[in-house]
Amino acid sequence: MNHIRPRARARSIHAIDYQALWEKGIRALLFDLDNTLGLWRAGPPSARTAELLQRLSAAGFKLAVISNGRLCQRPEVLEFFSGLGIPVIWRARKPLPGGFRRALKALGVDPRKAAMIGDQVLTDVLGGNLAGLYTILVQPLSPHESRFTKFNRLLERWLR
Ligand SMILES: [Mg+2]
Repeated sequence: MNHIRPRARARSIHAIDYQALWEKGIRALLFDLDNTLGLWRAGPPSARTAELLQRLSAAGFKLAVISNGRLCQRPEVLEFFSGLGIPVIWRARKPLPGGFRRALKALGVDPRKAAMIGDQVLTDVLGGNLAGLYTILVQPLSPHESRFTKFNRLLERWLR
């Protein structure tokens, strides 16, 4: 059950010590979308989040978003990320390793130099750990989430 344990935890993406990650050799940051960067089924992430992503990218990090959600439902979200030059992997099927591999290939970064940041143990943390990334669990932005996610959280609690 070691694979469901995150390497680190943070209250939100704004509370992560990115400088420390850089010093550990982390060069790529993969973010979950729903309830990590933005609200589930809401519009694009906030201006504050856009600013953070721009700052991280200016500091030298390569960034990508990896979501189990579908592109077709979210044109304004896609616009937000393409405006920032951040690739998004939709329908990633986390925790399967394929989406993580695709994202890292797009960024040209080895998994050992990458971190996965997300709010779910059974998709983000498990998947990130299986793919060989450094994993950071953040608290979900909102209690609103899909039925599938709610089920995953029940399972999470049971596993703990
Ligand atoms: Mg999420």
